Amino acid sequence: MIEFKKIKKYAEFHNPMYNFELKKQKVEFREDPLTGQNCIIPESLLDKVKIIMNKPSKNIIQNIIENTQAGCPFCPDKIMTQTPNFDEKIIPNGKIQIDGAIGFPNIFSFFEHSAVIVFTEKHFLNLDEFSPDIIYSALKVAREYTHYILKEYENVECNCILGCNYLYSAGSTIVHPHFQLYLSENNFYYNKILLINSKKYFEKNKKNFWDDLINSEKNLKERYIGAIGTTEWLVSFAPLGVYEIQCIVKNKTCIHEFTDNNLKDIAQGLSNVLKFYHKNKVTSFNFALYSAPYKSKDNLDEIRKYFWSSMRIIARPNISKIPLNDVWFLPRLIYDNISPVEPEKLLQKVQDFF
Ligand SMILES: [Zn+2]
Repeated sequence: MIEFKKIKKYAEFHNPMYNFELKKQKVEFREDPLTGQNCIIPESLLDKVKIIMNKPSKNIIQNIIENTQAGCPFCPDKIMTQTPNFDEKIIPNGKIQIDGAIGFPNIFSFFEHSAVIVFTEKHFLNLDEFSPDIIYSALKVAREYTHYILKEYENVECNCILGCNYLYSAGSTIVHPHFQLYLSENNFYYNKILLINSKKYFEKNKKNFWDDLINSEKNLKERYIGAIGTTEWLVSFAPLGVYEIQCIVKNKTCIHEFTDNNLKDIAQGLSNVLKFYHKNKVTSFNFALYSAPYKSKDNLDEIRKYFWSSMRIIARPNISKIPLNDVWFLPRLIYDNISPVEPEKLLQKVQDFF
């Protein structure tokens, strides 16, 4: 059964901020209920996160927009002439265009198959401008691309990751909003960890971890945000990043088998999360959508018993005068993550946007 492990400890020292009185600071250690990955919640970091997350520099962002717009290959005047085309033997016309979203290959290949998906003509969006409609059109392009690739390479195991970096502080090299989709025989590391542990959980408990997670969170009412149609939304118990929100797509293993309703529900929820971020002065974010590898339909039916597709969305530091990064040696080299906010305290704030 699902175990939400947490331990509280205290650090004690003479604190110059309180006239060198002996003061305690609470730290909490949590373990992800599936992977066992550590998350540390240091009480003292709450003040520090306000510095990172609460002061986006409008001037600097405006300068970045102005300096990058003229040369942006994703803006409407250049997107058809300066971005690459897919092999037309696999994808007719070399680009995938659905409802204003356009998919084309990543000009810098990381994997065998990749698509960059641009879904707005605007060079920059505030996070409250990522509407469900534009996200939905991007997700449809992503699904379409997986269909083309699976059809062309039908006997090759296909792993799939959809993700987004928005703005430089989230790892993007181009300001213009876009998603990235990768399909590969490479079994993306964290995806693999989720699959292995989901299978172990199923073998031990004869139950689907993701279904159990939703039901446990619904009963506890501490982190469960709510359902949007075919999807379930919650604040992660042991987040990988700041303000992390998780989405679980019920009974589905990969974007290629998502229905229109799945895509609409994800788009609505993601738009809600980004509105919540915007309200809290966040300007930068990442998300990743995890999937099962595709070998055959029968194989997927087997995997579906223990693994469902899910997504994690995290806020990233704002672009500010003094560049700050929330990825330091502890999360980057030790793989212990930090959450400056207690997930349970986040629930009320996020729920207002659902
Ligand atoms: Zn642009």
